[in-house]
Order: sequence, then C-alpha cells, then structure tokens
Amino acid sequence: MSTTVGTKLVYDFSEGSREMRDLLGGKGANVAEMTRLGLPVPRGFTITTEACMAYLRGGHQLPSGLDAEVDEHLARLEEEAGRRLGDLADPLLVSVRSGAKFSMPGMMDTVLNLGLNDRSVEGLAERTGNPRFAYDSYRRFISMFGDVVAGVDKAAFEHALDEMKEARGASADVDLSADDLRELVARYKEIYERERGEEFPQDPRAQLDAAIRAVFDSWDNRRAQDYRRLNNIPWDLGTAVNVQQMVFGNTGERSGTGVAFTRNNTTGEAGEPFGDFLINAQGEDVVAGIRTPRPLAELATVLPEAYEQLIETMGLLERTYRNMQDVEFTIEDGRLYMLQTRNGQRSAPAMARIAVEMVDEGLVTSDEALRDLVDAEQVRQLLLPQLDVTNAPEPVARGVNASPGAAVGAVVFEADEAERRGKAGERVILVRDETTPDDLHGMIGAQGILTARGGKTSHAAIVAVGMGKPAVTGVSEIEFDMSEGAMSVGGHRIAAGDVITIDGTGGGVFLGEAPLVPPQADNPHLIRILEWADGARRLRVRSNADTPEDAQRAREFGAEGIGLCRTEHMFFTEDRLPIVQEMILAAGEAERLEALARLRPFQEEDFVGILRAMDGLPVTIRLLDPPLHEFLPSLTDLTVSVALQRERGSVDPEDERRLARVQELHELNPMLGMRGCRLAIEWPEVYRMQVAAIVSAALRVREETGTEPQVEIMIPLVAFEDELRILRAEVMAEAERVMEERGGRMDFLVGTMIEVPRAALTAAEIARQADFFSFGTNDLTQTTLAFSRDDAEGKFLTRYLQRNILSANPFETLDVAGVGQLVRMASERARSVVPAIKLGICGEHGGDPASIRFCHEVGLDYVSCSPYRVQIARIAAGQAALAGTPSG
Ligand code: ADP
Ligand code: MG
Ligand code: MG
Repeated sequence: MSTTVGTKLVYDFSEGSREMRDLLGGKGANVAEMTRLGLPVPRGFTITTEACMAYLRGGHQLPSGLDAEVDEHLARLEEEAGRRLGDLADPLLVSVRSGAKFSMPGMMDTVLNLGLNDRSVEGLAERTGNPRFAYDSYRRFISMFGDVVAGVDKAAFEHALDEMKEARGASADVDLSADDLRELVARYKEIYERERGEEFPQDPRAQLDAAIRAVFDSWDNRRAQDYRRLNNIPWDLGTAVNVQQMVFGNTGERSGTGVAFTRNNTTGEAGEPFGDFLINAQGEDVVAGIRTPRPLAELATVLPEAYEQLIETMGLLERTYRNMQDVEFTIEDGRLYMLQTRNGQRSAPAMARIAVEMVDEGLVTSDEALRDLVDAEQVRQLLLPQLDVTNAPEPVARGVNASPGAAVGAVVFEADEAERRGKAGERVILVRDETTPDDLHGMIGAQGILTARGGKTSHAAIVAVGMGKPAVTGVSEIEFDMSEGAMSVGGHRIAAGDVITIDGTGGGVFLGEAPLVPPQADNPHLIRILEWADGARRLRVRSNADTPEDAQRAREFGAEGIGLCRTEHMFFTEDRLPIVQEMILAAGEAERLEALARLRPFQEEDFVGILRAMDGLPVTIRLLDPPLHEFLPSLTDLTVSVALQRERGSVDPEDERRLARVQELHELNPMLGMRGCRLAIEWPEVYRMQVAAIVSAALRVREETGTEPQVEIMIPLVAFEDELRILRAEVMAEAERVMEERGGRMDFLVGTMIEVPRAALTAAEIARQADFFSFGTNDLTQTTLAFSRDDAEGKFLTRYLQRNILSANPFETLDVAGVGQLVRMASERARSVVPAIKLGICGEHGGDPASIRFCHEVGLDYVSCSPYRVQIARIAAGQAALAGTPSG
C-alpha cells in the first residue's frame, strides 16, 4: 500500500496553522499557530492524520515516502537546533506526542526524552554539567517508552522507583541523587529486558520509528474506540504525530512545568491567573500527582520574568482563539516555552459566564459566542442540581451516567412504594435491576433512578431523560438480596431506607447525602444566551406535553406551543382505565358509545386545562394511537383466572365474556396491528368523541378567556391518502355538529403524523388532505430500521454501537442518512403540492442538538421536545441558524 504521489505527509510547525486541525490534529495545529504567532515554542514537525489513515488502511505499513520525509524534517530540526539525534556528546532529544482532531483521552501517551541511550546520556550529563538531570531524563524515557510503546506494565517501573526512594529514605523523586538515578536506570533496563525479552533499543532513529507506529496503532486501541463511540467521533479521522525538540523543566530550581487556564474553569471568572506548576519537574508530573503542585500565582515570586511572559502570552492566545484557553508550559533555566494551547474544558456555569463576559469585553459578538462558546447539551446541567464535584467523597460504585443531575434519597426497591412515599413528600431513589413500563409510577415518585442493568438507551435512561430526572444505570456490581430488603454494592450493604446519592452526570453512586450544587434556572448568563438564541433561530420550539402541568412547565421554559399532546395518557389513570376497558371490550357499537359518553367529560376537562395553559399558542392534539392491548387486562392472567374458576366448577360469565373478547382482539404484532387511524376506520365513534371533546373545550376556553385557542388535530399512523381523507371528513363533520350544537364557530387544522415509510414516500398525495405534517421520528425510526425500540435498546443496539455499525443511538440522534432522507423527501414533496403546509418534528429527536441542526437544514417550521429540553432546543436552533456563518 502506498499513498498518492505528491501527498505531503509531514509539516514543519512553521508550515501549519490553527485552521489545519483536520490534517495536523488539534495539538499540531495549535502548536503551529503558536509558532506563527512568534511565541516561544520548541521546534518540531507533525506527521499528518492522512499518514495515519494510510498506515492503518495499508495493513499497518508505514506509507511509502514517510520515512524519507521524516528524515528530511528531522535533518532540518537538527540543523536549527544545532544538535543531532543520537549524537554522543550533545544529543538532540525529542518528544513524540499524539494528537487527533478532537482531544482524545485513550490515545497513546506522550514519550519524552526520546533519543537517549546508554552513551548519549553520558554526553548529556557532561554537556550540561548536570548528571542528575541526565539520568532523571533517561529513566523517565525508559519507563515512558516501555509503557506506551513496548507495552511493559508501568507498575513495574513505579515499583522500582518506590523501592529506590524507600532505600534512600527519599520522600520524593527530586530527593534522589544522580547516582541513585543511574542505578535506577540500570534497574529499569532490566525490567524492560525481562518483560520484552530484548534489550532496551539503543538506536534513536529506531526508537523514533517505534514511537510513531505506536501512536498510529493507538488510534485503534480499546480505550480510543470506546471514547470515539461515546463521543461520536468517526474512525477515519486518524491521529497526527508531533515530534518536538525537548525543553527541560527538570534541570533544577530555575526550571519547572505547569498547566494554566486563561479564566477560572469552574466559575468562569476572568482576570485571575489560574493553574498549577511544579519546580524541577517534567511534563506529566503536574497532572500525575507525583508531588503536590503549587498554585500558579506563586510563580510570580518564584520566577517573575517567566510568569509575566506567561500571563501576557495567555492573553494573546485568548484574543487569538476568541475562547478560553488551557495551556501547558515549561520553564528551562528561567526561559518560558509554550507546549500546548487548546480551548479549555469548563463547567456549565463557567461556560455560560465566559460566553457572556467575552461578549461584554468585546472579544466576540453574541452570534460568535452562541455558535462557538456555548454547548447546548451542557446547558442541561445548569437546570438540575449537580454533584459538588470538588467536595464529593469517593463513589462506592460507578455505572453509566444515563440522565444528568444528582439526586439524594432513601433507597426504595419497589415502584409502588416509591410512588407512595414520593406522594408523601419523601425523597426516595428507586433502585431496580432494570425498569419496565410497569415501574413508571414509581419513577415519577422518585428523585432519581438507579439500576443494575442497562445503558444509556435502557428504559430507565430514556424515561429518566424524558422526565428530567437523574439516573445511573448499569451498576453491575449491585447484588440484590430481596429476602433481606437490601443490596450490596462495592462491599457495602445498603438496606431499604438508607440514604444514597446518585450522580447522573458522572455516573457515581455515594453512601449518604453527598454535597450538591443547586440548579440555576435563573442564571443571568443563561438568560442572556437564550436571548441570543431566540434572536438567531428560525425554527420554532414547541414541547410535547400531555397534561396542563407539563404544558405550564413547557411555557415557563419558553415553549411556543405544544407539538404533541398524547390523548391516551389521559386514559391510563385509575378512574378512567375501567371505562376505557369497557369501551374496548364492548359487545357492539351501542355499548361502546355508552362507555365513550362517560369518557368524554374527562377528555373535555383535560383539553380545557391544556388549552387554557397554552393561552392561544398552537396545540397539536393527537387522537388515540396506541395498540389496544396496552389498555387491556393480560390475556395470560385472564386465561389462568378463568381456568381456575372452571376447575372450581363456577365461572363468572362476565370473566368468560372478557376472556373471549381479549382473545378476539389479541394480536401477534400489536405495534403493527389495529391502532391509530386503523382503529378509527374500524370504530369511528372513538375519534368522534375525542373531536367533540376538543371542539367543546376550545369553545369553552375562548368564552372564558377571550383568547382564541389554536387547535391542530393530528391523526396518527397514516400510510394511505384515503385513510386521512376518510378520517378528515369524519373530524370535520363531527366538529361541525358540535359547533352547531353549541352555537359557536372556530378554525382548526387537521393533519397527520408521518411515522410510516409509506406515508413519507407518498407525502405528495397525503399532503392533499393535510394542513400539517408532524414527523413522528420515534416510530418512523422503528418502522424504517425495522428495530423494535423496546427490544433493541440494551440488546443488539448496544452491540451495534460497540461495533460502530451505528455511530449513535438512532432513537436519540436522528439517523440522517436513513430516516432523515425520508423526512427530507416527504418535506419537499409535501411542499411541492401544498407550499404552506406546516412541518414539524415531535420525536425524541426534537430535543437533540444534532437532530435539530438537520431539522433546520431541511427547513421544518418547528421542533417539539420534552419540556426539560426546550431551552436546549432553543439554543441548538439558534446555533443551527448560525452554523456555517464565517467568524469575524
Ligand atoms: P497530553 O495530550 O496528554 O497533554 P502532551 O503531548 O501534551 O500529552 O504531553 C504530555 C506532557 O509532556 C505535557 O506536560 C507536555 O507539556 C509535556 N511535553 C510534551 N512535549 C514536550 C517537549 N517537547 N518538551 C517538554 N515537555 C513536553
Ligand atoms: Mg498536553
Ligand atoms: Mg407513533
């Protein structure tokens, strides 16, 4: 395998810039940018991500020409540095650093001091007159190379270091002498030889080659794969390799190394230097916790000149990148060197504050801040109590961070109990092996949910996210001991009633009440960001809401209407379910009408509540949709009960009749069975009742408030134009009848949910009968992929994600390449027939930033999501409108 002739595979730092992240990786592009800015950056070169991909695709062979290019750039580096790699008297040493486009933990760790061997270490000692430094550098090199390139367990090296420190009575590595370190080098080499069965490589060019290959290989290691999957990073990006002249923070008291943020990354506060440093140390020592680092402010007195220059440089970097920067620096004998800069990770409150303050400082415009400095997903964290990470104890166990936020409460193992105690105002955490729809009432009553099984797409996770409730799932260590009403986790026994804390943002489980940071819905920075977003976005944002309470909450979060009100949820309550069952099990139309008449007042009150809460904003009401079996007693239970009665010789004839009817209605594939519009064609009286309730409710609300409700009646599961034509006529006729009866008129829309591929394919025909389409992308995903969501999640879907067959859960992020094509096509076809047709989306995807971007591109009119995601959707919609606009 060889790459195309003429492809440049290696770039000198002086040839790159920050725009070249794709090719040079983030680290390489930023080091090049700092070089361009004239900052003190050690020289070096970057091997491109394309070289990496050529290597991986070509059966792990270095692409042809790479060797020669590396030689060429190395020669130039040697010339500029005035030192040669492997020179015995004065060796050039380099670091080999991996760096993908996106910062990626899990990739190969950096190797420092490459180029040393048994002989050049002596040269280095001599030239610098500092043998301690020379041996310190060599022992670090052997252990780093051994660990990250040769796969030697680093614990072996650490163990040898500890033994040496103990033997010498040294508390830290800096207390070891040159002789100690020379001896340590010998031990490290023995370890290497023992583990690898060969001597530590002495040829520097061979060391370099091995390190380059190791970086490339690390792109495919397990950790990197896991990380990419969790963060939706494509495989074919590849990683770059940076080879850079070493500068030394370990030459003595006038040297050191550190990391710093241009602003406080927890609070977002500007103006105060923020970071850590260590004197007489190299690279990773600061983060590795070898010694306790000192706060950056102290550097001002220790090495004032370097400090001044660092502060000035950080200011310049922040102005250049127009973003908070996270930098790495090293000071060698009083001289400052910059080794890395990147956009800094920050807490949610810091993110909001930095965005707003950078606008106020005139560093960026509000559009730029919204587009580049705000993470819509992270906003979610502002709206929930969070674990106070800085003061939290160690977790007793970890699981999947399934739904963000932290919750404290007493452990409860049963859904009924969680509901009861929740209603009584107690704070409980529902703990289950996994949850099912039967646990729903308990989940509502609980503060948070903890499960032993399932991942981010388990029932518990999906439902918790929808409710805006913290959840930790998949804590596989949990062992239930239900006979004792207890569980054991991480060696602790936790009984029902014991208080625990779960951290759905981080995935931890804690004994007792851990410290929390309260939610910040009134965060002034968030309010400003939402204003920017509302000013920028074209998409309207609605909410899915089934109750007046949800509708109210959605409005408080800024929803501009209800995109999906599911009427069946009103049927599940205790007082209504028996009537619903009578309606379904009715022997004939007369009986059914009688039951419907009893349901109607309930429905009317529900609609009055919702329309009132929405105060003239549009409300899409979906007529009855779910498969009937969801409302019916279980066939198995009934069969058993009747069989037992028969055995006893007396059977309740009513039970027998119910059993016969349930058998009659039984379906093998209820999801694909008699439901939605199909049911309405069979039993038109059901939709008639619902329409009558809607129209009466709307007229009542108008009389009462003087505001005209905007009603949109939605017919689900349509696949044929004629279904909608027939049902639309039914709806109009019934509405007409009720308006006549009540002596009032009102306008409303009739439309359909597009959730079956045939409906998308024939959108041009269906549009003739519809005032609006709402893409029901939950079902459209199920029907397009032929995945049953309930069965796929937590089962083969997980495997598909692991194997990268899917890059994201299609029930969370719209499958743009598949389902998205149906949405796009249906939108175009519908608009070609009815240009003014209203288009929206009401699946889970309506609250997902990536999916919202797609909805914006396709030109939908609105997205609808759960109330708790409305603010995220507003921000994402604003960002979608700004995407692709050039930065100023
Ligand atoms: P990471 O991505 O894990 O931060 P880096 O490549 O940035 O890895 O390097 C790890 C450590 O080594 C950092 O502290 C960095 O500053 C230091 N380092 C990297 N290259 C050099 C160099 N040429 N001279 C001195 N220190 C270096
Ligand atoms: Mg780094
Ligand atoms: Mg549906």
